[in-house]
Amino acid sequence: MKKVEYDLDGKNKLYFFPEYNRFSFNDSNPEIIADYYSDSLVKLRLEISHLCNGRCKYCLVYGNNVEKAEILDVKEFWKYLVSQEWFKNIKKIFIIGGEPLLHFDEISYIIDNFNGKISFSTNGTLITKEMAKKFSESNVKVYISLDGPEFEDNVNRVYTNKEFMYPDIIKGINLLKEYNVKFGIFMVATPETVNRAADMIFKLDEKYSPIRIGYNLPHWTPGYKNNGLAEEFRDVLLDLYKNRKRIKAEIPQLKWRLNPLCEGKVKKFSCGLHTTQTTILPDKSIIRCSKIDNEKDDLKLRVTNELLDKNSPIELAKDTKSDCSKCIALACCGGGCPFDGMKRFNCLTDKRECIITPPLVKMAINNVVEKFKNQEISVPNGLIEPDIINKLLWS
Ligand code: SF4
Ligand code: SF4
Repeated sequence: MKKVEYDLDGKNKLYFFPEYNRFSFNDSNPEIIADYYSDSLVKLRLEISHLCNGRCKYCLVYGNNVEKAEILDVKEFWKYLVSQEWFKNIKKIFIIGGEPLLHFDEISYIIDNFNGKISFSTNGTLITKEMAKKFSESNVKVYISLDGPEFEDNVNRVYTNKEFMYPDIIKGINLLKEYNVKFGIFMVATPETVNRAADMIFKLDEKYSPIRIGYNLPHWTPGYKNNGLAEEFRDVLLDLYKNRKRIKAEIPQLKWRLNPLCEGKVKKFSCGLHTTQTTILPDKSIIRCSKIDNEKDDLKLRVTNELLDKNSPIELAKDTKSDCSKCIALACCGGGCPFDGMKRFNCLTDKRECIITPPLVKMAINNVVEKFKNQEISVPNGLIEPDIINKLLWS
């Protein structure tokens, strides 16, 4: 069993087992059963249409030219959906676009007819009082795309006529706040702003008090192939982790990567495209992911479920010569987005993960070790309950 050993005080030792995301106290060979996250289908990604009132410069939908005027007739399709056995297990619907708020009637219909969690991402420019009121009376979560707190951070976000969206996005956010709607902000890293991203996130957190601030690396698009943001993005996440007590909003990109460590669980895949989630397109087709299963690309033939299964870091680590087998982030990583992996590196792993996740996991583990060294933490010898690690990591 692979392990990393930390000497605490000359007498006591802490061990970390990367294959299991478990820690043990003074026991170098405890019995551990891998605790995998469930693979069952629970999340539906719904693309009502690819229409959008914007033309953001890095947008994948526009960049890949898959724009179509087709609009999913949600009311009609709902009858089919609710008759499906698999749909009965769906706990979350995430609506993406195009711009979902071009279809407010459809979103309202889903809000009125689905009991699970609903969320959607929007450019925020179309939000009206009527919409904000509707959202405030439901459990829907609204995610606004914004690249930073100031006008100049958002120059990539433009309308079809090339005018800047920023003033209307802020109007939308203010309406959500006025009606007490739970909302988050989604940001995309750009070469122009990545070096001040952590500060931008602190400002957004203070200024708007969103429930979440997502900070994503851009997906590959033909016109936006930038490879080099991984190091800068890693530094932002490290900075955010160090400042975790200062930020009230949840940072999902930190949580995804560190939750397995806090929970003592093993993550096989970063993306649930062939396991926990499925996608419905405007033409009613049910696919894994609109980027991988894009009809204009042969990726869908090359990225089979069998290959996805064989290429999770956990599987790759079975080869003792592989990088994954030596990686401290093995059970946290999940391999990143397979679409970006194929487009950027011609393999199913988005190798940017190898730059981002191990240093973050290492920092979190060092943090746990330091707490053991500096505080009186009393645990029995043997495996440590994940709950204890969770508290140490976020405290
Ligand atoms: S493969 Fe990549 S783009 Fe597709 S759903 Fe997964 S993370 Fe998103
Ligand atoms: S970060 Fe890279 S080397 Fe480490 S487990 Fe993930 S894919 Fe493998």
